[in-house]
Amino acid sequence: MRAIRFEADGSIQPVNLPMPTVGPEDVLVQVLAAGVCRTDLHTLEAVKEGRRPPVVPGHEIAGKVTKAGSDVYVVNAGDLVAVHYEQPCGACRHCRKKRTNLCQDGHSLGFDVQGGYAEHVAVNQGTILPLPADFDPVIAAPLGCSGTTAYHAVVTAGDVTEEELVVVLGAGGVGLSAIQVAKAQGARVVAVDVRPGAQKAALEAGADTAADAEEAGRIRDADVVVDFVSTAATLQLGRGMLGVGGRLVVVASGTEPISLTAEDIMEGGRAILGSYSSTMADLARAVALAENGKLTPVVTRRASLEEAAVVLRELEAGTIVGRAVLTP
Ligand SMILES: [Zn+2]
Ligand SMILES: [Zn+2]
Repeated sequence: MRAIRFEADGSIQPVNLPMPTVGPEDVLVQVLAAGVCRTDLHTLEAVKEGRRPPVVPGHEIAGKVTKAGSDVYVVNAGDLVAVHYEQPCGACRHCRKKRTNLCQDGHSLGFDVQGGYAEHVAVNQGTILPLPADFDPVIAAPLGCSGTTAYHAVVTAGDVTEEELVVVLGAGGVGLSAIQVAKAQGARVVAVDVRPGAQKAALEAGADTAADAEEAGRIRDADVVVDFVSTAATLQLGRGMLGVGGRLVVVASGTEPISLTAEDIMEGGRAILGSYSSTMADLARAVALAENGKLTPVVTRRASLEEAAVVLRELEAGTIVGRAVLTP
């Protein structure tokens, strides 16, 4: 089968791979759509620097089941499915508490095992969700990371409820999904981004207000700030916007330090929370919102599998607002 692989020299190469093998509890999914996530660029960097072995990336996957293992009971061949890239071990203490996003013993499609930049991928039956037959796979694929990560950040971690004031820092692919999820929860949403194009997209996604950092810096009563950028500047900005009982939810990774006093979080019972990945429950909620028309990933670029390198370069250059999706 055809696939795209990140190689040790930092190149992005088309390769021919054997068909993945399917265990008793696995299904073989023909990839109909694979979203291109900014994290793929970090994976490419890690492979180039030798921190990861070469890998077929792609962790936003929707497709059609072509083969079901002997113990599979959730789907049949021919079913359209959304795939969660986390393949948790199912046995550790986090998995037993259904906090599968925190599993340390599992695998992740597109990170340490073959992902969706390929014609087929093998996945555990516990990590797929059947979709209505008429669901557009190009819209379904980004739900697998962008949609479900946004849901986990806004609802599972941020606990956003009706009429709360939510500030979304960074209106990229995941940020635009977070705006829609927060609106679906009944919140008022301010989107913050320096790029005019991203501000426009944020308003189209349902944000009540779009602002730059200076305008947003005057906010002092946010209930939840979700940071999809995570520089020192956005973390400081976000922390400063929290009202009494406010929660700063940190989604993106970063290494820039910020200064913080005990008073900053103790006074008014504020919290700083990390939102890491997501669970199948988050994916199920994200898909349900999508089915009800409340969450539609903003897909602005469609390309063939062979164009992966071009699309990744565009993403790196910041010329893609919203999501790009590859269709093998
Ligand atoms: Zn992602
Ligand atoms: Zn586990």
